[in-house]
Amino acid sequence: MNFRQNLLRFRRCLPLIVLLLAGNSMGQTGQPLRSVTYHLSMSRPVSHLFEVTVEVQLPPDATSTSLDFQMPKWSPGRYAVFDFAKNVQGFQALGGICPPEAKCKLAVVPVRRVDDQTWRVSTMNTKSLTIRYQVFGNDLSGTFSQLDSRHANYNGGSIFMYVVNHKPDPVKLVIEPPAGWRIVNGRTDRSDQREWQFPNYDLLIDTPTEIGPDWTEDQFQVDGKRYHVVVHSFGDEGGKRAGLVRDIEKLVRAETAMWGPPEFDSYTFLLHFAADDHSADGMEHLTSTQIIEPGALGEDGIYSDALDTVAHEFFHVWNVKRLRPLELGPWDFTRPLSTRALWIAEGFTNYYGHLLRRRAGLWDDTAFLRRESQTITRIENSPGTAVMSAEDSSLSAPFIDDAPHAQKTNLENTSISYYPKGELIALVLDLLIRGKTNGKASLDDVMRRMYEEFYLKSANASYYLRGRGYTTDDLERAASEVSGSDLSEFFRRYTRGVETLPYNEALAYLGLQLRREQARQPYDAGIGVDWDEPGSLTIASVRTGSAAEEAGLQAGDEIISLGRKGVKRENFLVTLGQYRQGDRVAISLKRDRRTISATLLLGPPERFEYRIDLRKDSTPEQKALRAAWLQG
Ligand SMILES: [Zn+2]
Ligand SMILES: [Zn+2]
Repeated sequence: MNFRQNLLRFRRCLPLIVLLLAGNSMGQTGQPLRSVTYHLSMSRPVSHLFEVTVEVQLPPDATSTSLDFQMPKWSPGRYAVFDFAKNVQGFQALGGICPPEAKCKLAVVPVRRVDDQTWRVSTMNTKSLTIRYQVFGNDLSGTFSQLDSRHANYNGGSIFMYVVNHKPDPVKLVIEPPAGWRIVNGRTDRSDQREWQFPNYDLLIDTPTEIGPDWTEDQFQVDGKRYHVVVHSFGDEGGKRAGLVRDIEKLVRAETAMWGPPEFDSYTFLLHFAADDHSADGMEHLTSTQIIEPGALGEDGIYSDALDTVAHEFFHVWNVKRLRPLELGPWDFTRPLSTRALWIAEGFTNYYGHLLRRRAGLWDDTAFLRRESQTITRIENSPGTAVMSAEDSSLSAPFIDDAPHAQKTNLENTSISYYPKGELIALVLDLLIRGKTNGKASLDDVMRRMYEEFYLKSANASYYLRGRGYTTDDLERAASEVSGSDLSEFFRRYTRGVETLPYNEALAYLGLQLRREQARQPYDAGIGVDWDEPGSLTIASVRTGSAAEEAGLQAGDEIISLGRKGVKRENFLVTLGQYRQGDRVAISLKRDRRTISATLLLGPPERFEYRIDLRKDSTPEQKALRAAWLQG
């Protein structure tokens, strides 16, 4: 992350006013504001500065002496804390609102910065306010925003402040684009639209927007719903865009076949092919998604990766955006999110993204089973699997969901991601339910039942959205009811506990089995390689209790040779794989400015590969269960 220091210049208040502002901070009446209008302009794209103006009309009988404007600390869907206020500059408050198109000179109003994310504006002697600030944005990402000479692409949470205590109030957005730039988002009704109304701030920032001169748009319809595929390519598309749109339609058909027709009339896929080798993201929203691929569409692998992300993000239309954990909306942006359920929200979405890609016909059985096998290999080889449960992983999201760390951590040894762990919990749970019910029910039924109960049929729990959120206990109950068996032990052992998932018990119902084999390169000696450090073989992490730890190796050491033979990233594992248990391997390293010699004493093989195989002796019943699972 770019922790660029901004030179923040704030208006200094007179001491008397400071006192007044400190006295009656949040004294709002609780009445909604008469109006909140955001204006977004971008007069100098090369500066990367978004210009935000917020016009607020106070309630007629407002008694407070100030209003607080606050920048979120994080944004929904990405749970690391990024402190968007660090990119705010030039905050200014004026008394009154200038009528549209008019030029007027408004009086400057005192502002006091209260903390790292909050600006307090005096409301004495005025019934309306105009706030202005700029936000630096130069990251193409579903979490951040980018303005440059090519386009503006924003995630609202990283550029729009909310008025404290007034997030539920309706807001209006007016965008003033540079000449020749067109605006599109998931709530666009007309191609020349420049104004939007949102029921509340949360929905304003749920609507990422692309503004640029040369994006393309394709459309298709499924079940009477209109889908827009907006593509902004910074590299060669290789003639693949039309095929991509057709394959996205297949995914939409497969996913809506599982869930039933979605609630919206129109949905927009906002795709960027960044061609910069580093920008990569996928972010879910109620009527849109932002997908950013690091390569060009024409390049090998990028097309397939884009489909993977589409399958995942579109599943979020139901799982996360509407059927949501209790804590996911409305949000408190003054502190990190705390929920136990991200292994359901993200992990189950990973599972279904892959399964529905198979059901859409974009993968065959082998490709899907290979992907699940790779996920098992990843989780079962990871030291964190033995110590961190799926629920703990979810609660650790602010540390592990793309969080930058200035301080060194031991997370490589102690954490797992709720994405792959949740994916495997879904896989095993799905197959157990299918097996126990002889194919009469599945995890699909559990998900549909949860959607109906919590989203469609529950009374609204807040201003934010229809229905109410669920807890992990709610999923446990729904899964038990659908499967007709008490699954509390499953949840105790595998979602709150760290026991190895009962893969083979689940796979056997469908005539499948899990094979575990020693990896072709069975040793890594506990060395995690830093793949972000190009040109060198640098140690990123050392596994607890490993040969590398015993030998005194540390993160940051650069490996020069193994067994007196020079090694690079490419041949490190192959070279180490030539040794046997009990061998002593000389290793030389660069640390600081010295060369260090050490000896690795290799123990038993450390790395295993897992493969889900079809059993040749599968019964017709098992084959039928398998077909229903893979083909829907
Ligand atoms: Zn763009
Ligand atoms: Zn996701």
